[in-house]
Amino acid sequence: MSKNKGYDPIALSEKTERIVVDGNRRKYVQLGRPLRFYGGTTSATEVGCNLRCKFCFSDQPVWNPKNTGRFYSPQEVFDGLTASARKYGHTLISASASEGTIGLDHLFELLDLVENSEFIYILETNGLNIGADPSIAKRLSGYERVHVRVSIKGASEEEFHKLTGADPEAYDLAYKALSLLIEQGVSCNACLMASFSDADGVEKVRRRLAGVAPGILKSLEIERIKQFPKVRSRLQKYGLKANKGVSCVSPEIIATDA
Ligand code: SF4
Repeated sequence: MSKNKGYDPIALSEKTERIVVDGNRRKYVQLGRPLRFYGGTTSATEVGCNLRCKFCFSDQPVWNPKNTGRFYSPQEVFDGLTASARKYGHTLISASASEGTIGLDHLFELLDLVENSEFIYILETNGLNIGADPSIAKRLSGYERVHVRVSIKGASEEEFHKLTGADPEAYDLAYKALSLLIEQGVSCNACLMASFSDADGVEKVRRRLAGVAPGILKSLEIERIKQFPKVRSRLQKYGLKANKGVSCVSPEIIATDA
């Protein structure tokens, strides 16, 4: 990583792990609520992220992990997700509102449980840890009931830095993650936070993704922020303004939470 250009998300990941992971247990706020995405998903709220996106709706789980949530074992998380998913008739389960690859022992024990169930686990990630450590994609390739959703923050290195405060060099890790996942045959798709990008920027991302694997464009999601009061005041504080939309987008536009 380059010096003096922002924090290193991989180092922040390690630091956060020391706060939100205890053995095979990870911190969560809750273990299963229904969300409307993908026709209905049950999602737990994780605690702890390796980015500090200024548009993030998650707030306390990201910005105050020490005083947020409590520790749960993979079995407790699985049981919580199962109860809610069965209640609402969902086959998709996930954890969201933070970074899914913090606490790998916890994650893979949870995936072991999912593997023997009727559910598919959507691993929500910004891709940075996966891009930095090829062994994660390799381990994920051992699972059939996981889909990885890699969220790209901004349309360029500069925009990534402006939105997250992180070292711009880390931006490329999300593309690296997609490349590694595809190489390992792991089910995955990309989404782009485009609320601060213009049409040219979105087109550049599409070209960059096509360079990773042209097929990935078919499932590209375009994400837009939700202006919750805390998000609005954080954006004001940093002088960031969301655009009203971009005209050049993939045929599949899905607005999601994070
Ligand atoms: S938007 Fe996602 S990656 Fe960014 S701080 Fe929030 S949870 Fe982390």
